[in-house]
Amino acid sequence: MPELPEVETIRRQLAPRLEGRTFEAVDVLDPRLTRPLDPREVAAELQGERVIGVERRGKYLVLQLEGGGALLVHLRMTGSFGFEPTSHERAVIGLEDGTRLVYRDVRRFGTWLVLAGDELEPYLAAKNGPEPLGPGFSTAWLAARLATRRAALKAVLLDQRVVAGLGNIYADEALWRARLSPLRPASSLRPDEVSRLHRAVRAALRTGIDRQGSTLRDYATPDGSAGAMQEEFRVYGRAGEPCPRCRGPIAKTRVGGRGTWYCPHCQPPHS
Ligand SMILES: [Zn+2]
Repeated sequence: MPELPEVETIRRQLAPRLEGRTFEAVDVLDPRLTRPLDPREVAAELQGERVIGVERRGKYLVLQLEGGGALLVHLRMTGSFGFEPTSHERAVIGLEDGTRLVYRDVRRFGTWLVLAGDELEPYLAAKNGPEPLGPGFSTAWLAARLATRRAALKAVLLDQRVVAGLGNIYADEALWRARLSPLRPASSLRPDEVSRLHRAVRAALRTGIDRQGSTLRDYATPDGSAGAMQEEFRVYGRAGEPCPRCRGPIAKTRVGGRGTWYCPHCQPPHS
């Protein structure tokens, strides 16, 4: 599933190609994309709109429209954008410059939602905490969110209202950087550990953006290039391989139903 670095990479590639362009012909081919709304209704709303900005909030892509509304896209498992014909096309937008923007989604969990200008912020704020690379995501803010939660730290970090845009990969990478066990109760962290975690979350996400995301299974960037973050994974998907810090074997467990990789030596359950 694309996480913040993957969605940000997609945003950066889409922005120069979409900003200022008009949606001349909109075809939503899969009714699942817009349900419960009728795909023809959504297509009609988008038709003739001009894109004035391509933004990101957590894992959401936000296409700001000249009419004041926005198209909110969540890629979920396998959604992606491109400019070449492909298989599994779920929507196609013809732009006035002749370009054809294609939305592809193999597993069809992605969603498109058109919101009015005044609906956008409340909708996004209800689902996402502050941007983890922005000023609102402070150590104090994170400490307050963790203090009330006794669930496993990894599970709490995956809550988008705690760290917007964080998913399975970057949560494991951040916990390894912070030398914290994914299984610790979130409320058990000392202030110095929260500080380490705060820095580690940002570092893991920044590394992901620098490498243009991780190319796993169905992730693809709009220009067809591949991200290289998978070459930088310290623990994710590396069970049995040596920890880059202590050379001990990386272990795999499950937390909240999600595969979780960590170093039992560097990330002990108690500290
Ligand atoms: Zn280690």
